[in-house]
Order: sequence, then structure tokens, then C-alpha cells
Amino acid sequence: MNKDLAKERQSSVLRVQELNSFIGRNLFLSDERYKQVLDLKSVLASRIKSLYDENYENLERGQKYELVLKKSLELIEFASEHNVTNYMEYTYLIGEVMGTEKHLFGLHFTMFTISLELWSTPEQKAYWDRFLKENGVFGTYIQTEIGHGTFIRGLETTATYDRNAEEFILDSPTLTSIKFWPGASGKTCNYAIVMAKLIIDGKDHGIHAFVVQLRSLENHSPVPGIELGDIGKKHAYEAIDNGFVKFKNVRIPRNNMLMRFAQVLPNGEFKRLGNEIVMYACMLIMRGILCMFASLLQSISTTIAIRYSCVRRQTADPTGLEPQIIDYQTQQYRLLPGLATSYANFFATIYFRNILNSFRKRSKNFSEIETNELAKLHALSSGIKAIVFDECLKFGQINRLCCGGHGYSASSGLQPVIQEADAGCTYEGDNIVLYLQTARYLLKAVQKGFSPHLELDNLQQIEKSDLFKRFEKYILLFRNLYESQIGEISNRMFILIEEEKLDRFEAWNSSSVALIYINLFIVYMNLNGIYEHQKSECSENQVILEELFELYLSYGIVEKFPNHFLKLGLIDGNQMTDHQNRLYELLKKVRVNAVCLVDAFGWTDSNLASSLGVYDGNVYEKLFQFAKSSLFNQNSENPVFNKVARPYILAKSKL
Ligand SMILES: Cc1cc2nc3c(=O)[nH]c(=O)nc-3n(C[C@H](O)[C@H](O)[C@H](O)COP(=O)(O)OP(=O)(O)OC[C@H]3O[C@@H](n4cnc5c(N)ncnc54)[C@H](O)[C@@H]3O)c2cc1C
Repeated sequence: MNKDLAKERQSSVLRVQELNSFIGRNLFLSDERYKQVLDLKSVLASRIKSLYDENYENLERGQKYELVLKKSLELIEFASEHNVTNYMEYTYLIGEVMGTEKHLFGLHFTMFTISLELWSTPEQKAYWDRFLKENGVFGTYIQTEIGHGTFIRGLETTATYDRNAEEFILDSPTLTSIKFWPGASGKTCNYAIVMAKLIIDGKDHGIHAFVVQLRSLENHSPVPGIELGDIGKKHAYEAIDNGFVKFKNVRIPRNNMLMRFAQVLPNGEFKRLGNEIVMYACMLIMRGILCMFASLLQSISTTIAIRYSCVRRQTADPTGLEPQIIDYQTQQYRLLPGLATSYANFFATIYFRNILNSFRKRSKNFSEIETNELAKLHALSSGIKAIVFDECLKFGQINRLCCGGHGYSASSGLQPVIQEADAGCTYEGDNIVLYLQTARYLLKAVQKGFSPHLELDNLQQIEKSDLFKRFEKYILLFRNLYESQIGEISNRMFILIEEEKLDRFEAWNSSSVALIYINLFIVYMNLNGIYEHQKSECSENQVILEELFELYLSYGIVEKFPNHFLKLGLIDGNQMTDHQNRLYELLKKVRVNAVCLVDAFGWTDSNLASSLGVYDGNVYEKLFQFAKSSLFNQNSENPVFNKVARPYILAKSKL
């Protein structure tokens, strides 16, 4: 064990095991289930030991694909043997097997199965359940086209009904209609949910979901009429074959349209059943999973950077001693707000997941759902998804910089986190578009005279607590900020739209109100998490979590929204200086427990897949080992150099 890391752990009063149990209990809903998941994780770890490759980042794309395919199949088998059906648990296990690499059948277990579950009629659901059980089906979700992603109504793929054959004919009529990006569609998946424009007798009935076979279950060759392949190298996910798919008059049975909310009868009659907005329910579940995933992902890069910053020593002080880099205030200023944000976003996404679970339980029959509630949840989910991925990306990059040159080595494990967060800012809804959706909802609500306030279950109870009183001055500041901001934007919009007759879309073009709203939500949820923690009676940890919370709040004032606070007159220059000074004090306090706070997330070395974040801190050994296993070092000679450059050297030496 590296002696600096050992000292960090000894000198902190944080009780890591207790905090880890609290996190696990929140994640998996009970202590018992958390323990079971941990047991499963260690069984799985020993089972896939032979597939674990420390040298993964040095492999070529084809080798990575093969390894990830093997691991993905092993994981599916393991999950089915141990009856793991909850996607969050599944994701946790994926981390043990894949590190931060993607799973090839991630979409199969999310968008594909969730769409089948939510959009099928009961008869269709029974049919597809049986079909999936009895066949080796690997599904994906195909929506985006070369020409359109965000604007779903702009999709051009057609599904034209042929009433004589009782079939739909799928077609990609233009270059821009070719499906592009779907995960694992290029080489791997054999079935897909395809989103296409329904046409009956020349009439466009909007976008609907169809189950389409892509490849033969016998020999994996593409189904006639479907041209498909890999889209080529991307910023990340080397092992994943995001694909293109082009349809040429591909026929599928009428029953392959998922008809829970809209039906096409054999005679071609089109019937809409219930409100279109329930289609969002599928997206919501997916968002819940993704938000949680992003908050955990951020805790991974934070763990790596904080551990490394305690091991790394740099630049002699006046006594000649090289300090640990975490002792530089500039390092703390970049690292520790990321730690506070990891906890804040974790608490927020847990709460959000719980709201979604209770919504899902209540809404077995979607026709009875209050559309208002769904719209509100959708607006909240859009904003949370955007902010957690934005922050995961921002702090991932900061963490990379905090690790200096070694952070830039693929062995640091930071690159996949950053790339994953980067992609997450675009997939499942571009973040800017999502902020605008949230803003649109909020401003509409205000203009209809609804309260702009958050309605949270146990808010009143929390507001009566001593904990709330301790943080009241901060919370009121954030609440006032949101109210002032929404008031100002709403007035401005009223003038723009009513008096200057501006296009609504231009007027909506303001996303900061959504950012502030979601930030306020996270503040409350962070408070809620700490409030719940109080019940665990671990007072040492409670004090430390409260310091971390205060750091989150101070950072919000000083770094995230200083201009808004000053411009709206909620804080003056002197008060801002006071907040800045308090932030510096808090950095010192949080620094003392930083290693134990990241240890409490409980990531194993295989989860982190990082030479810099290893638990024992033996960083330099790992780095050197990685360098030696570079493909470039497999041969001590360099035949390529000799072939290409030797003639040049020879020519020079003759001169
Ligand atoms: C790694 C990865 C995996 C993916 N996996 C899948 C998959 O499995 N299945 C699938 O179907 N798709 C998948 N996608 C595609 C993804 O869903 C789309 O890329 C995403 O929805 C964004 O759409 P777009 O690419 O068309 O961006 P665009 O809509 O073209 O956005 C480009 C820019 O324009 C801005 N913009 C667009 N519209 C507006 C607006 N209304 N107001 C203001 N600004 C706007 C955006 O902010 C953005 O900056 C994946 C993408 C990635 C990167």
C-alpha cells in the first residue's frame, strides 16, 4: 500500500463502511439486496477472470469487439442464472466485467425490452416475451437517421401498409433517411425496434414503432432488402458497432407494429388509443437509468483523480519536501467541488429514480395517467439528464487535467469516462434541446398561473428540521434566484411575444432558467439525502456530508451562478467575497476526508480500470507495466522504421 494513501485513510474520521452501506442501500433499495449484489459481483469477478485484460486499452478494435462480445454473453448468462432483471443491478455488474467499456447488449436490456413492454398490447407482449425466451434474440433501438435526430417528426423512413397482404413495407426513400448510429446494429443485433412514419393510403399517420428482424437467426446474414454495417470509428466505444441500416421494401407482418397506443386494423383503418404523451413513459424510464449511470460515472473519475492527487508529489516547497499535489489550493479548487457534485447528483438521481418507480407502480394502465404529471416528470427528467451528463463531462475533463500527463495515458481510465459523458450529452436527447424543453414547460406553467415551485414529497417535513435551518440562508438564495429568474424571463417573453410579435421559438431560446431550476432541485435532493442519512446515526459521517453539502452550495454561488446572483441583486460584492472565503475554508475541511469519501463509493479496481486510481496507490508500477505492454513494444526491433526511414538515413550518411 502506498504510504500517502494509507495515511489519508488513517487520518480521516469518516467511517467508510457505514457510508458505503448507506450509498448501497439507496442504490439497491435495501441493505440485504446490496449485500446480495456485492456477493454476485464477486462471484462474477472470479468467473470472468480469464476475460479480464489489464492491457485492454492497448488492443485493436477487432480484438476489443471479440473480448467485449464474449464478456457480454457471459454477463447475460450470469444474469439469467441469478435472475438479475433490474437494470440498475445489471449496470452495476456490468461495471465489474467491463470497467467503463460499453456492454454490447445494453440497448437490448433497455430501449428494446422497455419499448416492447410499454408499447405492446397484452397479446403482443405475451408473444414477444415467449419469442425472446425461445430464440437467441439480441435487439437494438433504431430511430436516428442521417438527416434527423432531435426532430423526430422529421424522420423519413416509411412503413406503408399493404392491406391485401396485411403487411407493412419498410423503406428508406432517400440518403438522409438511412438509419445511422443505433448501438450494436452494424454487426451484432438480429432484431430491432424501428421508428418509422406510418403511411396508409398515402396518408401520413406520424411516427410509430415496429419490430423488425435485421439478420437471420440461423446464419446471421442480413435479411433480404436490408443493407447494414458499422458506421466506422467514433470518439469512443471502439468495441461497439454503432451501425447504419437501409431498408428497401422490406415486408413485416401487420402485428409487428406495436399497437398499445395506436392500431392499424386489417382493413387499414387507423385508430389512436389514449394520449400520445404516454409514449414518453418509455423515455422516462430510460432517462432514470441514464441519470443514475451518469452520477456514478462521475464518481469514478473523481475517485481516480483524488486518489492519484494524494499519491502524486510535485515541486519542492521551501523545506525541500515535495508536497502531495492535493495540498495545492488550485488542485483542491478543481477537484473537491467535483466530489461534492458527485454526491449531490447521486442523491438527486436516487430521488428521481424513486419518483419514477412510484409513478410506474401507479400507472399500470396508462390511459388513466394524469397527463400533467407525466409532462412534469418529463420536463424534470430532461433537465436532470442534461445537467448530470454536463457535469460528468465537465468534471471528468477537470479530473483528467488534475492528473497531469499521466491522466492523458489511456491507462488512467479517464478517457472512457469523459467519452461516455461526452456521448451522453447527445444521445437520448441533445442537452441543449433538453434544457429548452424544461424551460418551455416551466414558462408555460408560470404563464398559466401555476406555481413554479418544486412539489416534493417530504419537503415540508425537511423544512421543519434543524438541518434545514443550518442551510436555510443558502437554500433561500437559490430559491430566490430561481423565482427572480423565471419572473424576469417570463416578463421578457411576454413582451417579446405579445408586443414585438416575435416567433415563439426565438423567445424560448433561453435555457438558463432550466439550469437554475434543476440546480435548485439538486440542492433540495442533496439536502434530502443528508436528511435521510441523519437517521443512520453515524454522526461523524453526518458532519462530513454537511461540510460537503456546504461546499456544493458555496461553489454554486461563487462559480456556477455568480453573475446571476449579482445581476439580480441577491448578493452584493462584499457578500460574494465572504462566500469566496468560506469556499476556501471548506476546501481545507473536505480535503481531510477526500480519500475516504471516494472510497465510500466502493469502486473496485476492475470497475475503475485505472492505473492512477488503484486502491493500493501503487500507481507507478501499473503505469510502467502498461507502457511495456504497448503493441509497439512487442518487438524490440522496428522493422517499419528500417523499411521506411533506413534508406533516408543511408542516403544522408552518403552525402
Ligand atoms: C454514442 C451514440 C450512440 C447513439 N445511439 C443511438 C441508438 O442506439 N439509436 C438511435 O436511434 N440513435 C442513437 N444515437 C443518435 C442520437 O440519439 C442523436 O445523435 C441525438 O438524438 C441528437 O440528434 P442529432 O445527432 O441529429 O443532433 P442535431 O439535432 O442535429 O443537433 C445538432 C446541434 O443542433 C442543436 N439543435 C438541434 N435542434 C435544436 C433545437 N430545436 N433548438 C436548439 N438547438 C437545437 C443541438 O443542440 C446540437 O448542438 C446515438 C448517438 C451517439 C453519439
